[in-house]
Amino acid sequence: MKAISVFGATGSIGESTYDLLMRQGGAEVYRTVALTGGKNIARLAEMARALRAEVAVIADPAGLEDLRAALAGSDCEAAAGPQALVEAGARDATWVMSAIVGAAGLAPGFAALKQGATLALANKESLVTAGALLLEQAKASGARILPVDSEHSAIFQALVGEDIAAVERIILTASGGALRDWPMERLAKAKLADALQHPNWVMGQRITVDSASMFNKALEVIEAKEYFGVTPDQVEVIIHPESIIHSMVGYRDGAIMAHLGTPDMRHAIGYALNWPERENLPVKRLDLAELGRLTFRAPDDARYPALRLAREVMAAGGRSGAVFNAAKEIALDHFIAGWIGFLDMGALVEEVLTRMAGANDFGLPPSCLADVQDMDQRARAVAGDIAVKMSGR
Ligand code: NAD
Ligand code: MG
Repeated sequence: MKAISVFGATGSIGESTYDLLMRQGGAEVYRTVALTGGKNIARLAEMARALRAEVAVIADPAGLEDLRAALAGSDCEAAAGPQALVEAGARDATWVMSAIVGAAGLAPGFAALKQGATLALANKESLVTAGALLLEQAKASGARILPVDSEHSAIFQALVGEDIAAVERIILTASGGALRDWPMERLAKAKLADALQHPNWVMGQRITVDSASMFNKALEVIEAKEYFGVTPDQVEVIIHPESIIHSMVGYRDGAIMAHLGTPDMRHAIGYALNWPERENLPVKRLDLAELGRLTFRAPDDARYPALRLAREVMAAGGRSGAVFNAAKEIALDHFIAGWIGFLDMGALVEEVLTRMAGANDFGLPPSCLADVQDMDQRARAVAGDIAVKMSGR
């Protein structure tokens, strides 16, 4: 029996993972070691019962008693808080879905790699903030990281049987998000509800806003560089509004291999779950004739400062990825709360990067997780100060 855990089970990726696990036989086929959620205790307990999980962990420590009550009568243990998440990662699952949103996903995923699990990585923030550490840990424990971000899964699949040395370029596709057709002058006025109208993908709230600002793509450029070990200039971004081509790999002979599919994360999750096999997945099949055509356009750097900032972060290396991600998370919190404007997010992140670049450990590679977490906390503090000033509160 494959022993699995799902971190962030109650989220968008978590729900899709749960859906596939249930369709592929649920508790009859999988031994579920740990399921975790952020706040939704009822849903977490429901999933834990259905999959007969050994432990369910809720991120909020205040939720422990309620979780215990919700699990009463089952054999599932209840736990809560960040330390319990890391302990759950250290349990003996052999396949672990890392689908917590944000830097909070790093430590539990790291613990899973440490104990040798295959890490199905949706949490791109892990690679952005601590890519080298993660890859080193995987190597040391003979563990594998399988990409779950749809672009990186597409690239991974387009690389099967190929030599990475023959790769000339990686082409990440981007839908452009909810505001891609808005004129620049209007963008400053965009509200949360506007940014949430994603044209193709149904995702968690945070990544949906990040898609509109292109911060999601910016994180993904760094993620691709880290995971595939290519140089920054080998990673390109193209706007592809239909989201049918999930990404491409260009080889030195000029050939381009693309991965196509409907915009459904179960493509990527299912591939990582069943890898190296392929199983029948409940995804809608593409009807190319109905689709008619696919379109592309170059991203506009003036419109999307996030992409330029990602290039600066890749050039700086060291701990700059942790600063970038932390600043982006704070900017996003403040935008979601309605305190700063849509375009303020880019300005805020840039300001944090400029200020933190003066720190003597900014360009220094982190030697352990604590280094990353320390940089993350400092960047959050700086970002919080700037955000408060920006919002005039
Ligand atoms: P989501 O917000 O829907 O779910 C996140 C999960 O993490 C939930 O279970 C939530 O309760 C939990 N969580 C939130 N804060 C937490 C904390 N501090 N500690 C512990 N748990 C916490 O997010 P999502 O859209 O499913 O995205 C999850 C991850 O996958 C993100 O890193 C995202 O970038 C990545 N991703 C998502 C999609 C998608 O289609 N949704 C696609 C590609 C990559
Ligand atoms: Mg993606």
